Amino acid sequence: MTDEARPAALAAVFDGPAAGLRLQALPLPAPAPREVLVRIVAATVCGSDVHTVRGVRTEPTPSILGHEGVGLVEISRRPGVEPGHLVTFAICDVCGSCDRCATGLSQKCRALMKYGHSTLSSGCGLNGCYSTHLLLRAGTHIVRLPPGLAANPPLAAPANCALATVMCAARAVQTHLAAAPRTRALVQGAGLLGLFACAVLRDELRFEHVFCSDTVAERRAMAGRFGARPLEPCQLDEDAGGNPPMADSFDCVIEVCGTPKVFPSGLRCLRPGGCYILVGLVHPQSQLEVTGQQLIRKCATVAGVHNYAAADLDRAVAYLERVCQDNTYPLQDLLSPAFALEQIQVAVDRSGDFYRALIRP
Ligand SMILES: [Zn+2]
Ligand SMILES: [Zn+2]
Repeated sequence: MTDEARPAALAAVFDGPAAGLRLQALPLPAPAPREVLVRIVAATVCGSDVHTVRGVRTEPTPSILGHEGVGLVEISRRPGVEPGHLVTFAICDVCGSCDRCATGLSQKCRALMKYGHSTLSSGCGLNGCYSTHLLLRAGTHIVRLPPGLAANPPLAAPANCALATVMCAARAVQTHLAAAPRTRALVQGAGLLGLFACAVLRDELRFEHVFCSDTVAERRAMAGRFGARPLEPCQLDEDAGGNPPMADSFDCVIEVCGTPKVFPSGLRCLRPGGCYILVGLVHPQSQLEVTGQQLIRKCATVAGVHNYAAADLDRAVAYLERVCQDNTYPLQDLLSPAFALEQIQVAVDRSGDFYRALIRP
């Protein structure tokens, strides 16, 4: 067979912020044992990819970006995963046997590989979702989509980053609050993680009241549709009479907005003994204004959550299936109209107009 006749994948390759994205054909690999070759049927543009393309964060290149996605299995060498299955997958490929994997922190595996963050020279190169194909490695947790999501794969695309991370944050809240009452929670930021957090805190953690703060009115309105009471950030500082009415009132605060300036008001609003989970501040401009005394006098737990473990993805998919079947939330409104792979640059440029820009390679 000549090179031209050989089946190939088409991928959007990223060479760095100055060069943008270009399409390139790459040979399709033959999967090794436990590897699975999927065709990407839906991918969504996560905020971290936008930061990479714009040069806000630096990733090794050349690479195929994109880690939120759903694949249709084409070739499988893993028992239980069959051609024709629609699957999502953990964004981390892990060894499963190092000390970190063994202690429930597999996202920090010593042999970690992350989809959408690895160069073309790593493995077969098909490591990202902005591509017709992706090779799932032997240590990657794979979850088959249940029927409701399989009928609408784009809805499931953000499950393996945004929603699974929220599930990991919810698990941290559960751990830190243990048997303490779960009355009031605050979510700072009404982007996609914030919306999912509002829903999960109510539905899964059974908080009576979930509040969500955001500077943007449309986002606050969407948080309302995800079960939260919307707040303007200034409402956390003081009321019309100059009093801080929310002081000491939340059992937990989850930060998913990425802005360090929300930290002082979040901490002030946390009740003594409460927990503050940081998720969105995963960038260098995240210096916090806090004294040790403030944390100590509050008996506060402050915890960072980065990515997630395999069981969080299982929970994310099961939860999303349930709310999808029940039509609980306006999930479809979170996605843009579909962009083709050829329009990837436009999709990234316009990603700020949507909760998630959707690519259908
Ligand atoms: Zn992501
Ligand atoms: Zn490991």
